[in-house]
Amino acid sequence: MIGYLKEIFSGTWSLFVGLGITIKYFFKPVVTVQYPREVLPMTPRFRGHIELTRDPETGGDKCIVCGMCQKACPSNCITVVGDKVEGAKKKALSRYILDFTKCSLCGLCVESCPADAITFSKDYNLAGPSREAYIFDLKKRLEERKG
Ligand code: SF4
Ligand code: SF4
Repeated sequence: MIGYLKEIFSGTWSLFVGLGITIKYFFKPVVTVQYPREVLPMTPRFRGHIELTRDPETGGDKCIVCGMCQKACPSNCITVVGDKVEGAKKKALSRYILDFTKCSLCGLCVESCPADAITFSKDYNLAGPSREAYIFDLKKRLEERKG
């Protein structure tokens, strides 16, 4: 009988402890977000796939098609393609292909770029039905990207 009463008491006590915790957090500010409708900003040091940075003057890319990033990449996941533009002395970037399936996010490409033309994106919620979905043309993505 005493054991039975002890069980009832401890069950009731744990119920009140649980309710106390619920009430305490009920009045605290909400820390979760309604993902995917709401997305939290990533930390400054977050590394998503690399992306081309925008030249504020021209609105285009800053790439000088030197190929340093391609050479520096230990996973061979970068292909830089440049074309000679009529009247211009230097080549202009036409395609910047990143095979993100092979990227280890080591950052050697970003470090080796003399023109500050690539950086890490804040893109963390990538999803795709095939490996091909992770082969990006960063030039095209820059043109489609706002900001
Ligand atoms: S972060 Fe590293 S592995 Fe990824 S593309 Fe750049 S150099 Fe290659
Ligand atoms: S290192 Fe920089 S400037 Fe050179 S090809 Fe790569 S992104 Fe372009």
